[in-house]
Amino acid sequence: MHAVRFAEYGPADVLRYEEVPDPEPGPGEALVRVRACAVNHVDIDMRNGTSRLPIALPHTLGFEIAGEVAAVGEGVSEVAPLDRVSPLFQIHCRECEWCRRGEHMHCENVRMLGVQSPGGYAEYVVAPAWALIHLPDSLSYENAAAIQTTFSTVWHALGTRARVEEGQWVLVNAAGSGVGTAGVQVAKLLGARVIAAAGADFKLERALEHGAEAVVNYSTEDLGARVRELTGGRGVDVVMECVGGDVLRASIEALAKDGKVVTVGGHAGEVVPVDVILLFRNQWSLIGSVRATADEIEHVVGLVAEGKLQPVVHEVYPLEEAVEAHHVLEERRQYGKLILTP
Ligand SMILES: [Zn+2]
Repeated sequence: MHAVRFAEYGPADVLRYEEVPDPEPGPGEALVRVRACAVNHVDIDMRNGTSRLPIALPHTLGFEIAGEVAAVGEGVSEVAPLDRVSPLFQIHCRECEWCRRGEHMHCENVRMLGVQSPGGYAEYVVAPAWALIHLPDSLSYENAAAIQTTFSTVWHALGTRARVEEGQWVLVNAAGSGVGTAGVQVAKLLGARVIAAAGADFKLERALEHGAEAVVNYSTEDLGARVRELTGGRGVDVVMECVGGDVLRASIEALAKDGKVVTVGGHAGEVVPVDVILLFRNQWSLIGSVRATADEIEHVVGLVAEGKLQPVVHEVYPLEEAVEAHHVLEERRQYGKLILTP
């Protein structure tokens, strides 16, 4: 089969479209014909050698995958050939303390396709059969590959962790990113009033189309001050944060009393000063959130299939153009997800 791999760390052109041996499913596993695979920012970190994830070279990236079952290994009853499926992007162990409690995001032995084993920048991928989510027929493969890291992460963050309620103000940062476009929609679905923030006006125009009622460009405006102005001086109840650095610091200043910042990432700065006096006097909460449970992922797949949430796909590229997709993501030229199709 063909796959895109890299044999050394470096810039996008270390990615090579090449022929590799066909994978075969072992007992309990399924061979999935990849129809769509998302490109994620952590793919770039792995390619650059900065991810701190345990990968072996040459490596095939890609952990957000949709496709159809091509063959099954011994003892597989969960799926059959031609089933439309998407592998869980975090494959939990089902045995540790956290898995037994259903808190799969804390699994101590979690593994990922495209990290510990070859991923979806390929024509085929092997996954445990139990870890395949069935896809409704109404869901395209391109959309199905654009759900897990965005909508399920945001559903867990805004719904489960920050407990967003109807009528609350929610600020969504990086509104042009995969998490941001999902954040605007999930906050709306939960009944919130949404302010979208990003560093480019074309991203903010799109956020308005997706349901934001106001926008802030944080490369030209003071985020904290502008959010206070938009909320009549009150501030927002919840911030969906994934930027870090100065944007996180300004977001804390944009909180109403009892406000919460829920954060899922911090590429722009991982260490941020916090004014402890303001934190306790206002009863603010800084909440971490990571991934989602398998149940949350299945729930969100259902919401997308029902049309209640709409994945935003910036562009679909043939697999052999993975280098170009990496360039676009690195230069932040996208609005929504980038998808590869073998
Ligand atoms: Zn576990």
